[in-house]
Amino acid sequence: MKRVAVFPGSFDPITKGHEEIVRRAAPMFDEIIVAVGRNTSKSYLFSESQRLDWVRETFADMPQVSVVFFEGLTIDFCKNNNARFILRGVRNSADFEYEMAIAHMNKAMYEGVETIALFSDPHVVSLSSTIIREIIKNKGAVSQFLPASVNVYG
Ligand code: ADP
Repeated sequence: MKRVAVFPGSFDPITKGHEEIVRRAAPMFDEIIVAVGRNTSKSYLFSESQRLDWVRETFADMPQVSVVFFEGLTIDFCKNNNARFILRGVRNSADFEYEMAIAHMNKAMYEGVETIALFSDPHVVSLSSTIIREIIKNKGAVSQFLPASVNVYG
């Protein structure tokens, strides 16, 4: 059975922190599906297609990574895509509490899925899309925080 992991998130925008998690997890899975959230009740800074394009460009060199939109429950997406693993990143204790709660809820709803969380590497541990959006809104330079292929002003 293929080991398929889903990495769900908003990616508004994708950061070097997200990129790092996928690249480090790659040796553990046959396939990683990066699932870009499409939540109608959430307001994003960047459009769906822009968020998706940047994620695709970030992983263009990795044939085992695919990038798709997703809406609804992560466990339903996993079932529909035969994925047995959910990949997440943990930066700090706040992430830890949140990720543990979600992992427990997902497991309670669907036994067939296991959450695999990787600890963030120190050089990207402070990166968050929320802070990066604030810098962008205030016209600050963010390229050092984003994957090389992402050009916010391009
Ligand atoms: P969500 O809206 O679901 O929190 P995000 O796009 O913010 O989506 O994050 C998706 C996943 O990536 C989460 O597990 C989050 O903890 C993780 N993540 C975000 N930034 C980093 C980072 N700098 N280092 C490691 N993991 C990160």
